[in-house]
Amino acid sequence: MRSIKEIFVIGHGPSSSHTMGPANACEYILKQYENIKSIKVTLYGSLALTGKGHLTDYIIDLKLKNIDHKIIFDTKTETKHPNTMQFEVTTNKGTTTETIISIGGGTIVTKENFKDHLQEVYSQNSLKEILHYCDKENISLVEYVKKHEDKNLFDYLKSCKDHILASIDSGLSKEGYLPGPLKVQRKAKEMLANLKNDDPAEIMAISAFAVAEENASGNLIVIAPTCGSAGVFGGILGYFRKKNYSEKSIIESLMIAGLIGMLAKTNASISGAEAGCQAEIGVACAMGAAAIASIKGLNNEQIARAAEIALEHSLGLTCDPVQGYVQIPCIERCAVYALKAKNAAKLATLIPSTNNKVTFDDSLKTMYETGKDLSSEYRETGKKGLSEIFK
Ligand code: SF4
Repeated sequence: MRSIKEIFVIGHGPSSSHTMGPANACEYILKQYENIKSIKVTLYGSLALTGKGHLTDYIIDLKLKNIDHKIIFDTKTETKHPNTMQFEVTTNKGTTTETIISIGGGTIVTKENFKDHLQEVYSQNSLKEILHYCDKENISLVEYVKKHEDKNLFDYLKSCKDHILASIDSGLSKEGYLPGPLKVQRKAKEMLANLKNDDPAEIMAISAFAVAEENASGNLIVIAPTCGSAGVFGGILGYFRKKNYSEKSIIESLMIAGLIGMLAKTNASISGAEAGCQAEIGVACAMGAAAIASIKGLNNEQIARAAEIALEHSLGLTCDPVQGYVQIPCIERCAVYALKAKNAAKLATLIPSTNNKVTFDDSLKTMYETGKDLSSEYRETGKKGLSEIFK
């Protein structure tokens, strides 16, 4: 399994697969080729169907602004992966075609990085194996992560934590409409102003709105594990800040969250286009539940149970962003699932450990299979569900 650094990445919203992935693809192409005369970018599948609302064309135009380029939205041709892009690059040596896949979380797979992409940091690939290893070594999950990752992980996650807190504050300072035709109004600032008490759970919900609204505006956020689900960790860090947890314990909780997210990315999917919103906000919820369980001092088994409860009860969650904008249902859903993560962590302390029939790995496998069975109309194509009502 690869480094958990892939799960928390600082970048611009509104979508890790549809904005950050294509941005990274353009940067890759610009690095790979010299004397470029023109580039034709063809977007397929979900990128073609919801690319406008996810600002895919905007980010490609921005990245390729100094080069003659055109963007084609091919909604007809079927590709193996729903987030496939083809770059036809013309240089003074001729035209070369490269296919690049955006696999979620801003990660792209190209010919060049295919081997790096497979570079392993962990030798265990399931939570069952990890728990078994920790039992044998008598270590916590945090110690397990520290043992495998490089020395700068702590600083890397500290920077992610700082950016999440900054995007909460930024979201809370703004009002007005979010970009796009839906005319969705920013709500976080007003929610905070209307708050009558000091309840950390309410701060959690408002912080989730603040970050999700920043994401919808294309502002700087931290993907966790995707842009659309970034608000969940906005909520969780807002809650941690309100509860005055130490910096060290927050960063260690992010290690646990990253581990859960990486298991999902390795064994299933974190892409709404591939497996629905259960793979984005469902996984974020499982990561959040594990992070809360960790910061509350629960043991390895209880942390695993918190993640399992959160994911099991997110199964079937479809992806139906209205008109392709990461606004409805995404923003409110981030707040709902941040609260749900907190409840899952609570339940993990109440349920006796003796009778745990479904494991996190089972839930993950089921999530992926359910995702593959979901009609493509419910996988980030903006064709059905809430999208249909608002057409
Ligand atoms: S519905 Fe969920 S998966 Fe789909 S765009 Fe919104 S946050 Fe992402």
